[in-house]
Amino acid sequence: MSSAINSTVIDEIRDNIKGQLLHLEPMKNHTTYKTGGAAKLLACPRDSKEAEWLYRFAHRHEIGTTVIGAGSNIIAPRRGIEGLVIKTRSSGARLEFKSGERLIAEAGVYLDSLIRRAAERGFGGLAALAGIPGTVGGAVFMNAGTRKGDISRVVNWVEALTADGEKLRLNAGEIEFGYRESIFRHRPWLILRGEFRLQRADMEKTLHEIDRIWEKRMRSYPMQLPTAGSVFKNPEGRHAGELIDRAGCGGMRVGGAMVSEMHANFIVNLGGANSDDIIELVRRVRKKVFQKFGVFLQLEQKIIRQQQSS
Ligand SMILES: Cc1cc2nc3c(=O)[nH]c(=O)nc-3n(C[C@H](O)[C@H](O)[C@H](O)COP(=O)(O)OP(=O)(O)OC[C@H]3O[C@@H](n4cnc5c(N)ncnc54)[C@H](O)[C@@H]3O)c2cc1C
Repeated sequence: MSSAINSTVIDEIRDNIKGQLLHLEPMKNHTTYKTGGAAKLLACPRDSKEAEWLYRFAHRHEIGTTVIGAGSNIIAPRRGIEGLVIKTRSSGARLEFKSGERLIAEAGVYLDSLIRRAAERGFGGLAALAGIPGTVGGAVFMNAGTRKGDISRVVNWVEALTADGEKLRLNAGEIEFGYRESIFRHRPWLILRGEFRLQRADMEKTLHEIDRIWEKRMRSYPMQLPTAGSVFKNPEGRHAGELIDRAGCGGMRVGGAMVSEMHANFIVNLGGANSDDIIELVRRVRKKVFQKFGVFLQLEQKIIRQQQSS
């Protein structure tokens, strides 16, 4: 497919969305690893309506699309991204409280903001998601969570747009949630919004608990350096971090990327790392763990492909 991005396309997008549109924008400005080459075009829709318009527009014009939320679980290609990147994280993304202790949130809502706004209304039940620096869309895609549970536990339904422009509403049971898994990891769909179950809770207590979780994370994870959370999934009954540590990988480096000495399942960017350094480090860690324990670690983070523009 040849690149269909030209000045007419750019003008039409500018006329139709209020959010920012950036040409040749470095992905390192949009990933928590602070790595990634330039996206040919990066659009920041204000809400799900604009994201939907962009997605439909790109498909109509045969422009390849890459969707990101807050960029907190991705490795963006060093050589950049040819087509259109749709970055859904937005302060304009909507949150709607419904009767019956339900909440509808657009994909671009930042999880922390959702949890805090729910708490301020006297709702809890989302503590398992506190401290995860992603959006609602990214969390549904990854089935994000902690030892206390994952987002699948509170999902009623999720609305998504297929590449053919069909809008689907999937009930929780149809989303094929698993450990850091969902149907969305295997479909090129745009997650638009979802409905979540809440529980009545004391506002002060809930806000205090959220702060406590963040503080604990700041002490236990290498949050001061650019990172994208756990690199690998925990193999059945084992901890990836422990295997990596025992395989002697703590502190291992490729360029500016290093296996954290604080939490071995995190890779940190010491400054100046590029995505190829991270990918090479992933490969070396996997090899060492496999040689020592015979376990092939599965990647939790998502390597974004350099996809072709159509
Ligand atoms: C310090 C740190 C700690 C973390 N701790 C945890 C943790 O405890 N538990 C945990 O589960 N994760 C954790 N993470 C990882 C990450 O925050 C989560 O996976 C989060 O849910 C990703 O959301 P995001 O919006 O950043 O998604 P992104 O990283 O932007 O995208 C992730 C994937 O989702 C897809 N995607 C995003 N939005 C959409 C959409 N609207 N439609 C279709 N596809 C979409 C992207 O294409 C990509 O493949 C951590 C990350 C960091 C940096």
